[in-house]
Amino acid sequence: MEKRFDVHTHFIPPEVMQWLREEQTHIPVHWDDAEKMLTINHQWGFRLKEEFIDLHAYLEAQRRADVFHSLLSPIPQLFLYNVEAAVTNELARLYNDALCRLASNHPDRLSALATVPLNHPEQAALELRRAMKNGLKGAIIGPSVEQKLLTDDSFIPFWEEADALDAILFIHPLLCDDPRLKGRRMTNLIGVPWETTVCAADLLLGGWLDRYPHVRILLAHGGGFLPYQIGRLQKGYDVWHPVASSLQAPPLDYLRRFWFDTVVWDHRVLQLLLDLVGQDRVLPGSDFPFDLSQWPPVQSSLEAVQAFLGLP
Ligand SMILES: [Zn+2]
Repeated sequence: MEKRFDVHTHFIPPEVMQWLREEQTHIPVHWDDAEKMLTINHQWGFRLKEEFIDLHAYLEAQRRADVFHSLLSPIPQLFLYNVEAAVTNELARLYNDALCRLASNHPDRLSALATVPLNHPEQAALELRRAMKNGLKGAIIGPSVEQKLLTDDSFIPFWEEADALDAILFIHPLLCDDPRLKGRRMTNLIGVPWETTVCAADLLLGGWLDRYPHVRILLAHGGGFLPYQIGRLQKGYDVWHPVASSLQAPPLDYLRRFWFDTVVWDHRVLQLLLDLVGQDRVLPGSDFPFDLSQWPPVQSSLEAVQAFLGLP
């Protein structure tokens, strides 16, 4: 059987759980014992399965699912872009150092991405450099920071560093805070892919893929709604000069410069994505161990994922 990979999966090392217990004064942490739900900073509670926090349980699940190698990411609930930057940075360093240790102890099975304090972009650039020097492959980042999109001028130092480092930037959504989505779990069900859509469309239309060509941008959940609506962006490019004038190529060309995970939960949708961007841009992902995950991850081109991760 061919090797299976997973580029979209999350883990919380014990050092981070310990920090959360000690930092209750800075970051409110609520634990619902009956439901096993963890809520950090009053946002996006989630069921804390053993596989999130127990490396043995994680590796055992990986083995049972025949997943050969996983690219671990911090959880989005701990990006902490809306707290004091010094606290965000402290946790980022701790989280990244712990993931470095895990990856270097299990180099065949695990590699990892960093979290960075994007609420302080210069610091985020420094932390990205430090983490990658220690062996991480890049960073997982949110789609915006307090309503500021990633093309905001303030993030330029971070983009420049990521470009210089040939970093992977995994754009992972946070919950959408549109009040209309409050009911029926829509903040997650459609708000999450919507956040990725907004971020990716802004990067595309802002010419960011020409400006920082060495950054390898991976979009979560199959790129949200962007692939499905690429024809509309193309129409705007054809008809509206202000859209076309900031781009050197049509939107579909730019769509093919992102990478996408396979976390779309429908084989017809995955086929559409493959048809649009090609096999070499679609990488296997699961979102394990979150409740909404695809486990084991749906596989795609082996060559593509090995090249992306720089693995033999
Ligand atoms: Zn995820």
